[in-house]
Amino acid sequence: MKPLQRRTFVKAMALAGGAAATRPAFGATLGGLADGATGASRQSRLDHTKSLTLVHSDLHNHSLPSGDADGDPRDALRQLRRAGLDVACMTEHAVSGGYGVGDHVCSKWQNGGCRFITGIDDNDWKLMAKIADDAYEPGKFVAFRGFEFSTPTIGHISVFFGKDFTDPLHEGALVTGSEVAEAYRVFPPLEPLSPIFKALPNTAEITPFYEWLTTAPGTGLLGGGADAIASFNHPGYFGNFQDFLYHHKAAKQIFLIEAFNAITFDGGESHDATDYFWYGRDSKLPQPFNACFNAGWKVGFSGVSDEHSGTFGQTGKGRGGLYVKYLTREGVRRAIMTRRTFGTREAGLRVDATANGVPMGSHLAHRGKPLTIKLDIDRGPKWVGRKLWVQVVGPGKDDPRLLDVFPIRVPGAGSPVISFDAKPRGDWLFLRICDPARKNDPLGHAPFEDSTYGGAVAYASPWFFRD
Ligand SMILES: [Zn+2]
Ligand SMILES: [Zn+2]
Repeated sequence: MKPLQRRTFVKAMALAGGAAATRPAFGATLGGLADGATGASRQSRLDHTKSLTLVHSDLHNHSLPSGDADGDPRDALRQLRRAGLDVACMTEHAVSGGYGVGDHVCSKWQNGGCRFITGIDDNDWKLMAKIADDAYEPGKFVAFRGFEFSTPTIGHISVFFGKDFTDPLHEGALVTGSEVAEAYRVFPPLEPLSPIFKALPNTAEITPFYEWLTTAPGTGLLGGGADAIASFNHPGYFGNFQDFLYHHKAAKQIFLIEAFNAITFDGGESHDATDYFWYGRDSKLPQPFNACFNAGWKVGFSGVSDEHSGTFGQTGKGRGGLYVKYLTREGVRRAIMTRRTFGTREAGLRVDATANGVPMGSHLAHRGKPLTIKLDIDRGPKWVGRKLWVQVVGPGKDDPRLLDVFPIRVPGAGSPVISFDAKPRGDWLFLRICDPARKNDPLGHAPFEDSTYGGAVAYASPWFFRD
């Protein structure tokens, strides 16, 4: 089949959108701005093929089947669409409810749910497919099924597009003293025992999950996730994947890391997503992006809400940017796999970047040599001329290294794309975009964050260098 031209693609969507009055049309600009303002156009100025369309995603949310969240999953997807998201996944928790266990310990979420997390069971998993299918409208709104592998101490991983699911109980990831010590957070009656268990050695491992993830679906009792792709969620919150222990096979299926996630927002008036650049720094955890990329994982950035409240797609919570050829499940999957992605907490924002013409998220045979970086950034008419800072970030030992920083003004459509030279050091490099109008992260500090730069507004996925 001949690929659709972008113009035809957008036009077809606009026409089709008009047919369903209750469902928002897929607009030529990004939606969801709180004040009804116009967001960025969906076309990157760095896409010379004119074949890509920018969509905003929220790939991490919870509703009643998770056991610790409110909201009907059908309504959640409707709300996300109304909030200007083009792509959404309900990643209900999988903790210990797999293969019948959940049936015995937890009342059905349809009957009001339960307040303890056992997560989804087999019946939920089947129903989640139907709910995603019902919400899916190719060309206009992409919904698909996923689950969040949710452990108390090893980390959380969202798994998308797979036929099977699994959970930590069945992958040997719920067995250690320190996990039982944290378990009161999901099983409150255990709280008095927490200090005793905290002292026990920590031997739970992520590897059995990676082995499940890389096993063919339908294999044995627990199936497998080799047909799925995955994301590292909120690094440092409930674990950092055993310090990002590298797994060669799983690395071919994990494509994203959350830069922004709102579950740990600061609790004040702002419900803004937390900037995971800083999360956990007060507890001496290594900087997560630096640790992740240095361990060898090649993942792009995303932003998510991780909503549990029943009100989905809230402004200021995380969003991801994906460049799709087609707004279909397969198109979204491929877009994630290119890693030409960004994470933001700004509705309506477009970010794209190339280094010597190579898109963000790609490999580049150019280690250590100077690069010409082009940055495409737009958030509609209101942001033209706005002053932002672009930080060029490379690898360091415990912290990443600030290689350079540039002031920019967001260009209008008639002005040239932002361009500057950068000198990479080490195996990767990414762009961190800061806004002086955003408040600093409570844990943020120099050289990356101060009142001059303000808080981060977006992360553009890294380039990965090879010789
Ligand atoms: Zn989580
Ligand atoms: Zn979650």
